[in-house]
Order: sequence, then structure tokens, then C-alpha cells
Amino acid sequence: MLKTFSIGGIHPAANKLSAGSAIQALPVPEVVKVPVAQHIGAPAQPVVAKGDSVKVGQLIAQSAGFVSANVHSPVSGVVDKIEDFVDGNGYRKMAIVIKVEGDEWLESIDRSADIKREITLEPADIVKKIGEMGLVGMGGATFPSHVKLSVPQGKVCDALIINGVECEPYLTSDHRLMLEKGEEILIGVSILMKALNVAKAYVGIENNKPDAIDHLTRLAASFSGITIQPLALRYPQGGEKQLIDACIGRQIPSGKLPIDVGAVVQNVGTAYAVYEAVQKNKPLIERVVCVTGKTLARPSNFLVRIGTPVEKVIEAAGGVPDDCGKVIGGGPMMGRAFTHLDVPVIKGTSGILLMSKAESQRAEPSNCIRCAKCVSVCPMGLEPFLLAKVSAKGLLDRAEAEHIMDCIECGSCSFTCPSNRPLLDYIRLGKGKVGAILRARAAAAKK
Ligand code: SF4
Ligand code: SF4
Repeated sequence: MLKTFSIGGIHPAANKLSAGSAIQALPVPEVVKVPVAQHIGAPAQPVVAKGDSVKVGQLIAQSAGFVSANVHSPVSGVVDKIEDFVDGNGYRKMAIVIKVEGDEWLESIDRSADIKREITLEPADIVKKIGEMGLVGMGGATFPSHVKLSVPQGKVCDALIINGVECEPYLTSDHRLMLEKGEEILIGVSILMKALNVAKAYVGIENNKPDAIDHLTRLAASFSGITIQPLALRYPQGGEKQLIDACIGRQIPSGKLPIDVGAVVQNVGTAYAVYEAVQKNKPLIERVVCVTGKTLARPSNFLVRIGTPVEKVIEAAGGVPDDCGKVIGGGPMMGRAFTHLDVPVIKGTSGILLMSKAESQRAEPSNCIRCAKCVSVCPMGLEPFLLAKVSAKGLLDRAEAEHIMDCIECGSCSFTCPSNRPLLDYIRLGKGKVGAILRARAAAAKK
């Protein structure tokens, strides 16, 4: 029997419409808008000014602390302005706007197609290089990669878990990357193993991607310590805690991190970016973006420069369909609807999903019938109906006591509720407030 995680989970329709679409490089746009905060942590500080000329790969904003990430120019051209803009979630952020001229890359970047397998850097230098190149988690979480690789004193990592699950319906960018850049991904995995000083890595892939499982299994035969781990189909297997459980059978206690059970998780897209950063000296200036939807003319996977307008990516796939009701950054389960489309692709943009008006219509909620379906599908062992209720009533002490902060916002509870209750919406509200209380408490404790 195939491995999977031990509690909860659902089986939404996969809808992998773009799985057969090979990755195509999108033309470089005329203007890019590059936010200085594309990651979890402190925004980077601009190191260029209006009127400066830049090349592809040049540092344009410097990491501002340990939990922060460098930002590099994805194009060559002239800095037009540095200004605030409203991002896809409605938040005001600073961005560096560059008018494109030509496509001149830094000479230090190796653009040849040669695959470089020998890893010459020492572990500490690998971590430093990954930090310099501005790498963040490419699965959407955008946690700076060098931080995850810096194992805290007193903790030991003995297993690297690579997330090739892509359990979100519709999304296919990781699937295509595994098919088209498999060897580079496995070299990236070997680099990460060296950085962490671990002998074992597991690449978890759900069995709805048999071509990727076969391809990587064949390639992995010539790599030391890498196991390709086929997994049963089950959402949200891509969650860190669920993936560790599925691959190596370790459960992470409430409030703890993967490193507390000796594991570090990275996405396959991050492993590929690690290969490019360490072996090719290439900063994170482009990524694969899946643009998809049932009424979209050409669901596709594009290689897109960071800062490219989302509208341009949609245009290349046939444009916004007339019946479009919602455009989501990410997948339908964990993604968030864009408030407007004049926003750039960023390091964490794994997909753009266009849903029709009919699909994006929410069903009318009715009273809770106490069926406990939401409880049985919660992969974190929570009681979603209760968390939603205490959040709605503002009972934040109770929400904290019921472990609201353990919620991974997978949406399985809302998906399964026969009364169509907007459980995750209420839980997110409560989580935001409890999170603020916890941060204030921690800050007060430090004084
Ligand atoms: S969204 Fe949160 S509460 Fe709901 S099923 Fe997922 S982890 Fe559980
Ligand atoms: S699934 Fe919906 S109806 Fe059933 S207990 Fe949970 S909230 Fe109530």
C-alpha cells in the first residue's frame, strides 16, 4: 500500500488541465515591477536609485536581517521609479519599477545548457550562496531558504524531505519541472543534503504523476541517498507536517517545527533554484508559473521573469475569459483571490487560476448540523466547527486553548461541510488575532 499521512484529508477533483503543456519561456515584458518584500520576514532595502542602469541578475535590494531575502533585477534596463503599490492581497508594498532595455545578463551567471554535477562548495558556503542569490521557498510559502538550512544549535537534522506532491488541484508547475529538469533537481537535492550534512533525502510525489515518479526514480539510481517516494493521493499532503508524516512516519507535536523531529522540507522548485544558484551562479530572477482554468483558452506552464504583470501571463494563455468570476494567486484550496490584476509575478507565484462565475459562486451557508465531517477531515486533528464559532464570537483565549495556531489553512473543513459554512474564513480571522496576541506576549517577555 502506498504511504500517506495519518489523519484527515480529502480528495478534491485534480483538474490538472495544464499537465501536458511543456514549459515555455514568456517574452520579457516592457516594464517590470519588483517588490522588495516577496518573502516572509523583513523587506529588503533598495540599493539602486531612479535612473540607475541594471543588468539581469544584479542585486537591487539587500536583505535586511537574518529572516529576509535579497532581490535581484530580473531584466536589464533603467530604474524608472521606486514607489508603493497595492499588491494582489490589497496590501501596500514598495516596488522597484524597471523599464526594460535589451536583455543583458551579468557575466558571472553561467547561461550554458551544460549540467554541472560536481558540487565543490563546502556546506557553510552553500548556505551563504543560497542566501546571496535570494532564494525562498518556491511552493508558495516564501520562507527564506538559507534560514531553513541553518539548523539551530542543539537540533539535529537527519532527513531532507523534498516536496514534489503538488496536491493543490489545477497546479502543474512542479510536475512539469520534475519532467523537464529532473537531473538538475536531484543535483539541487544533493547540494541541500551536503549543506545539511544528511545522508538521506526523500522526494515525495503523489501517484497521479506516474511519469514524474518513473523519470526521477530512473535518475535517482545514479545519486547517493535519494529515495523517490510515491505517495497515495490525498490533500493536503504538501503540508510540511503531512509530508514528513507520509514520507518518514514522524509526527510533529503542536507548536513544534519539522526540525524538532529531525527533518527539513524543501520544494522541488526550490531544489531546482538551489541548483541554478550554486552551480550556475544564477539568482532567483524567474520561475515557472502555471496559468490555468476550465474556460481559459490555453492552460499553460510558463517560465516568467519576476515582476512581469500577471495580466501579461494571462494574455499569453488566451486572455481573461468573458465568464471569469475570480482570479486566484495559487490553487483553489489555499490560494487567495487577487483584488486586482495590475500586480506582478513574485517569487512565490506558483499558479494563476481563473475560475468561471459559476465555479466561484459560494453556496448559501446554513446551520451547523453537528455531523463532525469537518473534524474527521482536519489533518491537524482540530475541531474546525468550534474554532470557527469561537473566532466569530471573539473568544480568543478559547481559540488559543483549542490550538487555532496549528491550523494550516488547508480549507479541507470548508470543502467538506454539508452546510457550506465558511469555516476557514472565520478561523483565519481568529488566527490573525490570536497570532497578534502571541507576538505581543513574546515581545513583552523579551523586555
Ligand atoms: S483549514 Fe485548518 S481547521 Fe480547517 S481542516 Fe485545514 S487545518 Fe483543519
Ligand atoms: S462539517 Fe459543517 S455541519 Fe458538519 S459539524 Fe462541521 S461545521 Fe457543522
